[in-house]
Amino acid sequence: MDRRTHLRHLDTTSTAPTHARAARPAPGPTMVERAYDHLLDMLMSLKIAPGERIAIDTVARQLGISQTPVREAMSQLEAEKLVYKMPNVGYRASPQMTRHEVRDLYTLRQLIEPYAAARAAEAMTDEAIATLRAIDRDMSGVADGDARAYSRFAEADAALHRLIATASGNRLIADTIERLHAHLHIFRALYATNAPHEAAREHRAIIDALVAHDPAAAEQAVRHHLLCSQQRMDDVLAEGTPST
Ligand SMILES: [Zn+2]
Repeated sequence: MDRRTHLRHLDTTSTAPTHARAARPAPGPTMVERAYDHLLDMLMSLKIAPGERIAIDTVARQLGISQTPVREAMSQLEAEKLVYKMPNVGYRASPQMTRHEVRDLYTLRQLIEPYAAARAAEAMTDEAIATLRAIDRDMSGVADGDARAYSRFAEADAALHRLIATASGNRLIADTIERLHAHLHIFRALYATNAPHEAAREHRAIIDALVAHDPAAAEQAVRHHLLCSQQRMDDVLAEGTPST
C-alpha cells in the first residue's frame, strides 16, 4: 500500500475497527489518490505558487488520466482550504496565511492542544500507541529537497496532532482541531526551511510522554512544540510578507 494511503487509514484507527480492513488485500492508489498526491506535492513544495491558477485539463494531461478524478481531488483540496474556486476562472492555489491568521491559529491551538495531550496521555490505549509508532516511522522518512517526503511529513504531523485530539476523548476538541486544517498550511509556508528536523525533535518528546502515560510531560511538550512552531512561522513571515 502506498505509504500515504496507509497513513490516511491510520488517521481513523481510533474510531474505526481495524480488523475489517485487514481482511481485504490492499488496493493500489486510485486515480483520485494519484491526482490528490500529485497536487498536494506541488502545492506543499510551492511548485504551484500561492494564488496560481490550476488548470484541471493540464493536470489531467500531465498525469495521463481523465479530468473527473482531478476534479474530485480538487474538491478534497478545497475542503482542506489549499485551493479555492473562482466563478468563471476555475481553481487557484490558496494564498499563504497572513501573520494575523497565524497568530490567531496558534492562540487557539495553545488553548486546547496542551490540555488534549494531557488527557490523551492518561487515556492512551495499546491501539493508540501502535498508531503513534506508525506515525513516528512515517515522520522519520523525511528527506531534504524531496517534495513527496516533505508532504508526507506534513501529513504525519497532522496525523499525530489528530491522534492526540481524538485520544483526549473530547469530540469537540477533536472536531475543532480537524477543522483548522492547520498542518498543511503551516508546512506549505515552511517549505525550504529546517522545520521537519526541528519539529521531529519536538515530536519525539511528545510521543515519549504519551507512551509513558505522563500527562504533565505531554502537556509541556505540546506547549513547547507549538511555541517553537509559531516562532518558525514568524521568522518565515517576517522575511517578506507584509504584516496584516
Ligand atoms: Zn507537530
